[in-house]
Parts: sequence; structure tokens; C-alpha cells
Amino acid sequence: MQIGDLIRRAGRQYGAAPALVDGERVVSFAEFDELTDRLGHALLAGGLEPGDRVAVLLPNGIDGVVVYYALAKSGLVRVPLNARETAHELAFKLSDSQARGFVGAADPPGPVEIVVDAGLLPDLIAGAPDGPCDVRRDPDAPLRLAYTGGTTGRPKAVVLTTRSELAEVDNFLVDLLPNLRPDSVMLHAAPITHGSGAFFLPHLVKGAANVIVGRFSPGAFLEAAQKHRATTTFMVPTMIGMLLEDPAVASADLALERLCYGGAPIATTVLQRGIDVLGPVFTQLYGQAEAPLAITCLQPWEHTPERLTSAGKPYTFVEVDIRSEGRSVGVDEVGEVLTRGPHTMQRYWRRPEATAETKEPDGWLHTGDIGRWDAEGYLHLLDRRHDVIISGGFNVYPREVEDALLAHPAVVEAAVVGLPDEKWGERVTAAVVLRSSADPEEIRGFCAERLAGFKRPKVVEIWAGLPTSPVGKSLRREVRDRMLAATHPEDA
Ligand code: AMP
Repeated sequence: MQIGDLIRRAGRQYGAAPALVDGERVVSFAEFDELTDRLGHALLAGGLEPGDRVAVLLPNGIDGVVVYYALAKSGLVRVPLNARETAHELAFKLSDSQARGFVGAADPPGPVEIVVDAGLLPDLIAGAPDGPCDVRRDPDAPLRLAYTGGTTGRPKAVVLTTRSELAEVDNFLVDLLPNLRPDSVMLHAAPITHGSGAFFLPHLVKGAANVIVGRFSPGAFLEAAQKHRATTTFMVPTMIGMLLEDPAVASADLALERLCYGGAPIATTVLQRGIDVLGPVFTQLYGQAEAPLAITCLQPWEHTPERLTSAGKPYTFVEVDIRSEGRSVGVDEVGEVLTRGPHTMQRYWRRPEATAETKEPDGWLHTGDIGRWDAEGYLHLLDRRHDVIISGGFNVYPREVEDALLAHPAVVEAAVVGLPDEKWGERVTAAVVLRSSADPEEIRGFCAERLAGFKRPKVVEIWAGLPTSPVGKSLRREVRDRMLAATHPEDA
């Protein structure tokens, strides 16, 4: 089965019902099938050949989705770019992916052979031949390249195939969205280039509408969620924090059944407040670019107070193991999380060494995350392997310290890193953003009540804002670099 087959079938089954909504623009299932066929034909007629990579740089909206699935039908390989990245990052991705084509609303960020100006998409579509565009692709050939967050060094592209994409849809339908029906509505408030995009096909195949909000703000989200009676949405934790800060959230009349969140750790205080305000709709997913959004999930009914620190249980058809020194660990022992399943990346694009380090020949993928199982089989993530701070010989997981800081009423954001320290090896150091004034010493005192001595931040700096990636992930590496530049210019 090909991705195009799913779109064609949805077009036949759900015809005139709305498949995509963005502001005033509505595209039906039948129209979506036709638009993607026509654009697929036009791209091939313009000189692109099956297997070519095509970078796409478009704002969150219907055109982006039409381009993505036209590429799927025409055998081309999608390389999504995010407009919030710097010109330098975009240029890197364009050349690293060896993109032959570019579709965008602005000039390409580097040299590329075939450029399609987004303003011309309607003309291209209107001038293209009728009939299905159906380039059959080997199930193990690249379907799309997804760049990793780049929170640990230069971004790498993950190769995802038709096989992995269909498995991803399957995982979602089985575990996350088992109740989808034609009157379900997905609200895309986060960039479809990233996590939110994974919700598109599961809704499409079940006849449910996908509604897109151009750019997230709590106000825009609440308005669209109420207007369209959204039943599903996806947010990264930062967005949930912002939403809960908006006083309008408490009185909003929402139809949400699932507020899926993940992509980064969430503070338990934020999560508990979210449940208090929005009800039992929170569904956590733990995944990564290499294992798209499906390693473990925590269902709404599993969000009990003692489980809020957990990332949930493995998806039904995903294997998860925690290993230390090559062997699987038992309950409460700490190790690296590994996962295996047909949805995982095939390999890193043009990085055989990185692939060999990350994916075992038998398919087990090293996530780089440190975790432990509890007695009931729930996974608890401690932190990224590379972010663990070693202070006085003890492992300090920055996430735990950040959680303690975020429990302070004045703290809205926190990032904890290790700085070089002659005595301790590394010194636990925090940067916090405040919502009301507070004294760093008082914040340290607050942590002292919650954390063992070696975990307490030795220094708490107050920052106006923390650096985040284009999808809203906090960039500890950059926090550390800035602190080093200020205090240890020789190490920066
Ligand atoms: P990316 O590949 O950019 O999506 O980043 C994936 C990483 O984000 C994972 O390896 C985890 O470290 C982190 N992450 C994703 N989901 C969760 C979650 N639910 N809880 C904690 N960390 C998460």
C-alpha cells in the first residue's frame, strides 16, 4: 500500500466532507485527492524525477499539506524546512539533503536546481493533467527526511519510508486515537513540519477534518478550538504552559477529547494544572525523530498524581527495553532506553557512522535517553544521556532540578546545566525566567527543601528568556554556551 492509496480512498469515501480547514479556506476529501494528483503531475512535468529530494518551506497551512502529499504521490522525497530556522540552518539542510527541488514562498536558502514559487501553485495545479498521479515506490525507499531537533549538535536527517509511515499511522490509530470518527476534528496548533504533522493521516483516513492554525497563540488556539469543536490537538509542553497562563482558558467551551503532548519533558506542576483546568484529556507521547512519536504513551486515565512523572507504557506494537552495559535492567534500575519497531528510522541520511552508533543490526534503536521502569511497567525518563551532570561523582538529571525550580510560584521557565568546577567536576547551574520578582537566594532555599545537596543549583541566574529551538524545545546546550562565555571564556 502507498500513501496515495489512503488519500484516494478517503477521497472516494468522504467526498464533499471537509478534509482541511484553514481560516476561510476549506478543502474537501475529493478536492484534496485531486489537488495532490494535479500538483504531483505538475512537479514531474517540471523536471523533477522520482527519488529527488524536494525541500518545502511554507507557513503552517493548507498549501504545505497539499505539497507534502503531492510529493508522496509523485515518488518525490519531502524535506520539510521550518521558517523559524536561521538562514544558516536552512542552507545547511538544503545542501545536506542534496535537494534538487524547492517549494517555498520566498527564495531558496541556497542553490537548488528546480524552484517552485508557492505563489504559482494555483496556476500549476490548474494547468496540470487530470487523473491519478500514482508513482509506486518501494516500501523501503525514502518517503521523507526529517531533521532531528539539533539539541545535541549538527542536525541529522532521519530517513523515513512508506513502511515506517504506515506503521506510524497504525501506532496512532491503535493507541492514541482509537476513537476517531468522521466528526472528529484535529486542530494543528503546532507546526505540521514536526509532531503535529503525524496526526494528519490518522484523521484523514477516518474521514475526520484537519484544521490548521497558522501560528500558535493561546487566543488563536482557543478561538479555533471552540469554533471547529476540535476533539484532538497536539502541543509541546511550552505551548501548554502558555495556554494555561491565559485567563480565557478557564471559561472556554471546548470539545477536546485528547490533548496530546510530548516532544520534551513537562513539569508536573504544569501538567496537574492543565488537568485541573481542562479535564482528563491529557495524553502524553514519548518519541523522537528517529522513532516518530511512538515509543511510549501515557493515557488520559493513567494521569493519576503518582504517575505524572511517567512517560507511560510502550505502544502496543512497539518494543522498548532499558539497557545498562549491554544487558536489560530490572525494575528501578537506570539505563538507556532502546526501542524497536517498523516505524523507526531506516537510517540517518548520508551518515553511516551515526547510523551504526544508533541502530543495532537487529533493529534496536538507541534513543540517547536515560530511564527506568517502575513496578507497574511505566517508563520514567530521567534525562538525555548527554545532558546528565556529574557533580562530585553523582549523576544529576537536569530535568529533576528543573522540575523543582518550576514548582516555585515565581518561576515560569528553567534550564539546568553543568559548568566546569575544580572541586566538583561540574557545578549544577540554573537559568530561570520569572513571572513575578523573586530573589535567587530564596529560590535556592526553595530547592534545598526538595533536592539532595548535590542536586541543588549552586548558582541561579535570572534571565529574560531562554533560548528555544524553532519547535519550542529549550536548548540547554545554548544556555551552557552562554554561561561559559560569560564565566569561563577559555572553555566556551
Ligand atoms: P526530537 O527528535 O527533536 O523530537 O527529540 C526527541 C527527544 O525529546 C527524546 O529523545 C526525548 O529526550 C525528548 N522527549 C520527547 N518526548 C518526550 C516526553 N514525552 N517526555 C520527556 N522527553 C521527551
